[in-house]
Order: sequence, then C-alpha cells, then structure tokens
Amino acid sequence: MSQKQDISFSVIPNPSPVPAAEREKLLAQGGFGTVFTDHMVTIEWTEGRGWHDAQVRARAPFSIDPASSVLHYAQEIFEGMKAYRAEGNSVTLFRPDQNARRFNLSAQRLAMPEVPEEVFLEAVERLVDIDRDWIPGADGSSLYVRPFMFANENFLGVRSSRNFVFCVIASPVGNYFKGGAKPLALWVSTEYTRAARGGTGEAKCGGNYAASLVAQMEATENGCDQVVFLDSAEHRWVEELGGMNIFFVMDDGSLLTTPLGTILRGITRDSVIQLAKAQGIDVKEAPYSFEQWQADAASGKLREVFACGTAAVIAPIGEVRHRGGSFTIGNGQSPVAEKLRDQLVGIQRGRVADTHGWLRTIK
Ligand SMILES: *Cc1c(COP(=O)(O)O)cnc(C)c1O
Repeated sequence: MSQKQDISFSVIPNPSPVPAAEREKLLAQGGFGTVFTDHMVTIEWTEGRGWHDAQVRARAPFSIDPASSVLHYAQEIFEGMKAYRAEGNSVTLFRPDQNARRFNLSAQRLAMPEVPEEVFLEAVERLVDIDRDWIPGADGSSLYVRPFMFANENFLGVRSSRNFVFCVIASPVGNYFKGGAKPLALWVSTEYTRAARGGTGEAKCGGNYAASLVAQMEATENGCDQVVFLDSAEHRWVEELGGMNIFFVMDDGSLLTTPLGTILRGITRDSVIQLAKAQGIDVKEAPYSFEQWQADAASGKLREVFACGTAAVIAPIGEVRHRGGSFTIGNGQSPVAEKLRDQLVGIQRGRVADTHGWLRTIK
C-alpha cells in the first residue's frame, strides 16, 4: 500500500502557546505522559488519494463521529521514541529510522496504509523542532514523542477503513518509574496471555495493550509493578512484559532474551543486543521456560533480570511473584544491567561516542 508521494507540510503555529513561566513549571513536574506540548502534526489518508493535508498546528481535540471505525474495531497503531536536549540548542533522536520502519510493519499487520519513512521522520522532526522548548533539561528526562495512526471512516461494516489519520504528539517526561532505580517486582500471569502465533504480538497496536490491562491489574493487586506474560500455546515460555522486553543475565556472563515471533521487536532490545555483542558478551535469543527461570534463580545460575524499553530504558527486576509463590533474583545487585543502562543512556545523551551511528541530530 506504500506509494511515493510528495507531501508538503503546512505550518500554522499555535496562536496561544503555554506561557514560558508556566511551561517551566510543568517541565519541573516530571512524571510520564500527563503534560503535552503546544503542537501536533496531522496527516490524512483517503483511499484513492493517499496521504494529504500534512499540518503542523496547535494541539487540539479531534472531532470524531460516533461511528468512526477505530472506536469499534480498534484499527490503531503507535510508536514511542524520545528526543533529548544536546550540545548548543540542538536536539537528538535515538534510532528514529527504526521506529519508522516498525511503524510500517505494524501498519501492514493491521491492514493500514504505510507512511513513507521520510514522511514519518519529517513529521517527528517538525514537531520536535517547533516544540523544542518543551524538552526538559534535567538528567533522566526527555521529550517523549508519540506517532500514531487510526482508522477514521464512519462505517460499521468489518473491513479496513478508507480513511486514516496519522498524528504525532509529544510529552515531556521524567523517570518512567516513580520509585527511581528501585528494582521492579514482576507478576507472572499464568492465566492471561498477550499474543499468539499469527496474532498481533509483533505489532505495536493499541489492542495489545487493551488485552494486557486486566493482567496488569492483577499484578498491581499482588503488589507488583509490572506483569510478565508466558506464551499462549503452552503457558510455559517467558515472552515479555506489557510494554517492555526482558533479558536474563547468567553466571557465565552471557545474556538470554526471548526470540522474536510473538513479542514486540524492541529497539531498546536490539540496541542492548548490539551493545553487549560489541563487548564480547554472548547473547542468546532463545526460548526460556518459567520452570527453568525458577530453577536458575534457586541454583544461583541466574544473576540478574532486567526489562527494557524506550520509556524506562533498562529496569532491573528484583522479585518475581506468581500464583504458586515468589522468588528473588541474584543478590539484589545488577551490575550488568546498570553498565548497559549507563552505556545506552550515555549514547542517547551524547556523553558516550555514538559508534553505531544511532543518533539523528536536529539543529
Ligand atoms: C514498545 C514496546 C516495547 C519496547 O520497545 P522499544 O522500541 O524498546 O521502546 C516492548 N514491548 C512492547 C509490548 C511494546 O509495546
């Protein structure tokens, strides 16, 4: 469904942006996903016409008909990436080309039109550029950028929509987990699963999150921060968290992570694999059973477990709870996770040389 087209953006700056003093107050709040910038980008897609009406404009509510297809059949995908304040007044994005590519893989799976990579990147860069005063400067904070696309045809029949809206919004964020560096407690969901072979587990679609919420509620009720899912066929193999991938650090120094297939292809996951391999660390992408996880934690073979994703970067896991009991991981220290986190954050912040060519700078 991809077609090369010339898309020119019209820019209509917000006539009444948030005053600077108030913006500074909002930026100092930290938190995740509650504060939004002055602008948004929207691009429309119509069957037969393709992408058109690209606009950078004041952030405002959409007017949506009650019959809009997204409200009924959840044809919606999204991305998540961060922009960082860098040298001078420049801004950096971390591997945004990977987000553009993954967005189109999600679009294919959800029978939606692809957004040409260069249009996706231009939309993101234009928003970050016009709202660059919204990028917090404090360590650990950044501007979270949320590109998304939804079906918007007023029709209750079941087929792919003939109209779509692509939109990018942005939100200044502090640390994802309010507790800071405290290791997370995970709840293993032995009842609910998030993805099946042939399903949408690899796509970044809202529906996957809707399906994960009841398990996340169960995690919270059991005093845990996050839920970890097992595979849907055997309820035996570890997959990932609701919104983060998972890594295991073994006593021989090697890393193990879930193979691709029903999990989301995390860009953080891929970056961790590349960083580790570049240091000569052995990384296996192989199935790992919940049974083996418990045995390795008990025997001491398992040293660390960490979760990773754009929002939280790398978060060590200290405890695992499930219907049958609970266990702890290693000795409470996570030197491998911390070192990888420092390297990754260092590259993102421009403190560590970007030898992989992962940063894209907006002057
Ligand atoms: C977005 C997401 C991740 C993390 O991907 P990153 O590209 O590292 O941010 C992991 N799992 C799920 C289910 C996700 O939606």
